[in-house]
Amino acid sequence: MATAGTDTSVVVIGAGQAGLSVAYYLKRLGLDAGNEFVLLDRGPGTGGAWQSRWEGLRLGSTHKVNDLPGMDALGISFESADRSLPAKDIIGDYYHRYEDHYEFQVVRPAVVTSVTNNKSENLLVTFNNGEDDVQDVTTDVVVNATGTWGAPFIPWYPGRDSFAGRQVHTTDYLQAQEFAGQSVIVVGGGTSAIGFLLELEGVASKLTWVARRDIEFFNEGEINMEDAEAAVAKQDEAARAGRALPSIVSGTGVPRTRRVQAGIDRGVLNAHPMFSAIEPEGVRWSDGTFRKVDAIIWATGFRPELRHLAPLKLREKAGGVAVGGGNSFKDPRVFFAGYGPQASTIGANRAGRMIARQVVAALSKL
Ligand code: FAD
Repeated sequence: MATAGTDTSVVVIGAGQAGLSVAYYLKRLGLDAGNEFVLLDRGPGTGGAWQSRWEGLRLGSTHKVNDLPGMDALGISFESADRSLPAKDIIGDYYHRYEDHYEFQVVRPAVVTSVTNNKSENLLVTFNNGEDDVQDVTTDVVVNATGTWGAPFIPWYPGRDSFAGRQVHTTDYLQAQEFAGQSVIVVGGGTSAIGFLLELEGVASKLTWVARRDIEFFNEGEINMEDAEAAVAKQDEAARAGRALPSIVSGTGVPRTRRVQAGIDRGVLNAHPMFSAIEPEGVRWSDGTFRKVDAIIWATGFRPELRHLAPLKLREKAGGVAVGGGNSFKDPRVFFAGYGPQASTIGANRAGRMIARQVVAALSKL
């Protein structure tokens, strides 16, 4: 199906939930994995971003992690997986079996450094193996499914660089024991911040939680679908307008599970307003209150990881890329899976089907 002069028809960048879901549907629509479409992943292993998440994160303490499409054919499901084991291990293992079963032949480690316009009308994807081995592949279409884990976001506060203690983003957090006996401040209003606080309770000597806005706990224990739909709609609106994407958690709130309610009752989940400045020894609020801290944990979210697409100049003045229905408005050869409204495991699954159909339609016009 590839046009003359291209190595492949489709390059999928990223083999997380979104990339694998696209691959599944491309295969179902008749494309040959490893030949007509190629999956490149920075990996070292399977599991997408989950392989890098901290040890203490269990399936039982995440939101729902949806099965990949066609995972039932392997007789496995996250629904029946051991919820007490680290999510990184289970998801890494299940994705591994999934990739093998569907023979996706994911190339890894393959770090895509750029996507550029080739001399003819196709695209040139350049990647390396994390070291010096640089390779190129030409393709008709790119599906970008690179998630957000590689683009951590830390807001700026005065004095941030002067802090003498340790600053850790969610992406660097390994386990609570690293902070044993320390005074720790956790920043952020989402499930990651709550997870860290519950793990650090009784390990850190002092624990403080701060968030930019009041935390809205809702009672159902699971994300309220109406709120979730409204939050997803806001993401879609921003993506279509090419604006930077809003935070999902600000739109959905946090589920008041039994574990969370117990944390609230014990006083460990008691969020304070944000501090206004950071000093070498700690943080200061605008009313002059100072707290000495040894470590700041920034559970402050992520941005989409799109640096490698910079040569295509897709970014709008409004700060984002303009994407509707998973397709770039500026360059119809470029698709985005798992972006904005699709940034959940269920959203990524739906994106896979929708994008694969569009990709095949685009290829058939070449
Ligand atoms: P990822 O899983 O991040 O996969 C992207 C892949 O692209 C990675 O393998 C990465 O290595 C690769 N990649 C990136 N850049 C490049 C490059 N330049 N070249 C090559 N490869 C590249 N969602 C839920 O539905 N339920 C949950 O419980 C849930 N919990 C979450 C907890 C945390 C802490 C976080 C941060 C997110 C959570 N999410 C959850 C959102 C979740 O990350 C997504 O739902 C989903 O797993 C993301 O899939 P993805 O394929 O878009 O991204």
